[in-house]
Amino acid sequence: MQNGNSYISGRGKKFCRGCNGLDLFSALDLGELPIANELWPNQNESIELFPLHLRICRGCGLGQVEDVVTPSRLFRDYRYLSSTSTSFLEHARNFATETAHDLNFGPGDWVLEIASNDGYLLKHFIKLGIDVLGVEPAENVAQLALEAGVPTVSEFFGLDLAESLLASRGRPKLIVANNVMAHVPDIQNFVAGIAVLVGPETRVSIENPSLINFLKEDQFDTIYHEHYSYLTANSVDKITKKAGLQLFKVEEIVTHGGSNRYWLRQQPGVVSSEKQVVAKILQEVEDGLFDESAWRHFDGRIQELISNFYNWVKSSIEAGKVVCGYGAPAKASTLINASRIEKDWITAIADASPEKQGRFMPTHGIPIVSPKTLFDLKPNEIIIFPWNITKELSELIENQILAPARVWKAVPKLEQVK
Ligand SMILES: [Zn+2]
Repeated sequence: MQNGNSYISGRGKKFCRGCNGLDLFSALDLGELPIANELWPNQNESIELFPLHLRICRGCGLGQVEDVVTPSRLFRDYRYLSSTSTSFLEHARNFATETAHDLNFGPGDWVLEIASNDGYLLKHFIKLGIDVLGVEPAENVAQLALEAGVPTVSEFFGLDLAESLLASRGRPKLIVANNVMAHVPDIQNFVAGIAVLVGPETRVSIENPSLINFLKEDQFDTIYHEHYSYLTANSVDKITKKAGLQLFKVEEIVTHGGSNRYWLRQQPGVVSSEKQVVAKILQEVEDGLFDESAWRHFDGRIQELISNFYNWVKSSIEAGKVVCGYGAPAKASTLINASRIEKDWITAIADASPEKQGRFMPTHGIPIVSPKTLFDLKPNEIIIFPWNITKELSELIENQILAPARVWKAVPKLEQVK
């Protein structure tokens, strides 16, 4: 590790961030990796490595990385923009339309989105004439939302901000927290903040990749330092109940390779769990959430996947082929660095986001380029790293590339897709 210690808090402490329990077991140890979303402006940076070890709490079923890299270190320059995937944007538009219809917004009602990114979702509510406020801690991203006309404050969400929003704006009708609970180091403070803003009419929607899908679909590359926590219906139910909220519905959705949408409301006077939620919680237990041997098998499959990927890139390079990547999300960094492939094996990675182009993926400094630049390199093999949008990207590659290339994805197993 290079100078990493000062950025790690709670190192070695093994208490659950969700329920304060002390009984956690090891689910996957990926060794020391660079920060996945950190794309460097120069190729030869000295890259810091931090341990990445997933543990699961037997008390509440929350998955979590053992070592916490502080948010100020992790998010000082955040380059994930939602607006680059067409299928994700479509998902956001549908959610806004359906929810605006179901919740029956009236005058004075408003929507709060936590981690509102560049305004990809809230702009649809604005079009429907509904007041919104976004909270987006990454200043460079919040600025883009403001420029797009989406009211946004650039702060970390927690109890303090919630109390000041309550004083200045009152309670929102809808709170949306998509793909953010994983990024929060103090998840109990975050949930307490939501609870402060929830009134009798408020509904809360939380979307997050499901930890159970990791186990069932070998989605290990969604584990990275920016994701402190990995949610399940079990953990959301327990953690939010403590804050006076009730999980009343769990929907399965397709984003990010299989996510859950958790619906919360104020805890009713008489506590009665919804049957559908109870069934979902039991299903997770049946699927092996608390089964240590199931996770040992998962670990074994991931080690095999990683070594297969290494061997495939190595043999392609030895055969004189040009190997490139398509899509530079955080999960690309997890796969590339966990498999410890050699410098220069992957020539370049294309990404549609101008925010990422011209930068370099650690640790070897793989250049991130535009799709056109990538195709000019005449790659023989192209790996799609965001496997959750394989179809969208493989069609795009097929339509744009001039020289023939084989297209692959590596997760859940190495597979040619075109
Ligand atoms: Zn716990």
